[in-house]
Amino acid sequence: MFGAKLWPVTTRKIIIIGGGQAGLQFADTLKRNHFAGELCLICEEPDLPYQRPPLSKQFLSGESGAARLALRPAGFYEGMRVLTDTRAKKIDREQRLLQLENHPPLPYDGLALATGCRVRKLTVPGAALPGVHYLRTLRDAKKIRAELKTAAHITIIGGGFIGLEVAAALRGRDKKVVVLEARERLLPRVVAPPVSNFYEKIHRARGCELHCRTALSEIVARQGQYEVRCEDHPAFLTDLIIVGIGVLPNVELAEAAGLECGNGIVVDEYARTSDHSIVAAGDCARGYNRRYGRAVRLESAPNAVDQARIAAGSLIGREESCNKPPWFWSDQYQLKLQIAGLSEGYTRYVLRGEPAEAGFSVFYFKDKRLIAVDSINKPAEHRLTRRLLEADIAVTEAQAADAGFDLETLL
Ligand code: NAP
Repeated sequence: MFGAKLWPVTTRKIIIIGGGQAGLQFADTLKRNHFAGELCLICEEPDLPYQRPPLSKQFLSGESGAARLALRPAGFYEGMRVLTDTRAKKIDREQRLLQLENHPPLPYDGLALATGCRVRKLTVPGAALPGVHYLRTLRDAKKIRAELKTAAHITIIGGGFIGLEVAAALRGRDKKVVVLEARERLLPRVVAPPVSNFYEKIHRARGCELHCRTALSEIVARQGQYEVRCEDHPAFLTDLIIVGIGVLPNVELAEAAGLECGNGIVVDEYARTSDHSIVAAGDCARGYNRRYGRAVRLESAPNAVDQARIAAGSLIGREESCNKPPWFWSDQYQLKLQIAGLSEGYTRYVLRGEPAEAGFSVFYFKDKRLIAVDSINKPAEHRLTRRLLEADIAVTEAQAADAGFDLETLL
């Protein structure tokens, strides 16, 4: 996105708060652009930046270990200061000083907020019992992996991406798995009913027990196991409970510093907050998106990368926005779901191909304009539809629904 030339460096001391995908990308972009000032990366977790997506997939299934998760080799961090296990406490915008827990304050000229999200917690009685686990960090995943040595029956609360990816990984380990979703279908926020129904069938066929429209009421410890109690359903007896009921953006630091927040730290299309010496990127940021004509907050690794590149550019004097359609993927069993664009607000959808493991796609239209495509086991179709969306090429519903029509001819 950015060339290799050295831009006028107006910012000498940059601090990045957050060691996730966005924080790492921020550092990477600055390095690639020969940023000559002081760079400091603050990581709240004890580990150097690592890949989060495999935690609910290969890491949990046991296919890969922690060593393979590192986002960059240790040598990448040479020349910058990295503080792990360190929490940012307060941003003093007047003094341009960042206060940290257990560490002297650090001055900054430019600040990058990549504070990410934290898990939404259950609030029912029993939610704090030791058998209730969440999966967001490597530490969480390690704890769950340790529990899986003895746990045979696992109940998953939430039929979103975490819940379903974990269910697939655990079925691969031959665990007995029950998934409880509050809404009427799986993945309700992101995909249309045919995709939800397809995944429901797949998980059932792989031996997973699924219940939608469940109202969790209580978790009770019972002789070394747990009873997960729901209204309108007999209790589920389980060894371990894994909760994936969504995430909340970490905005408190920004909010306390007087930056505009609301479902995320509000940024413009250049990832700048209302204070132009502070940028924000990734899951924590809600940025203006020209393609959709509104501010959006995206919880995805590809967005963290793109937005952090933009944010880094803004801090070193280069304004460049990104008009690429967002994209996203989820791996469950041998199935790859790839999403191009945002389907929110669609008025119609059409299927291309029949829902089957061999692959199919769902094209979403808003007032006859193509806005998003979900592709299951159709990587070439996904790549093609991303190009169509990026170039804003008109696709009719009839063309989309006709699997014999070569969409590439439209490009
Ligand atoms: P999610 O995708 O929002 O799904 C959570 C689901 O749990 C929602 O349908 C939610 O319904 C439901 N729920 C809420 N409270 C419940 C309750 N008490 N009992 C049963 N169900 C309940 O969130 P997630 O699966 O936790 O994932 C967290 C984040 O990680 C998301 O941003 C996700 O995109 C990301 N992630 C990404 C990947 C990937 O890149 N492939 C993989 C895993 C996770 P409501 O919407 O009504 O609350």
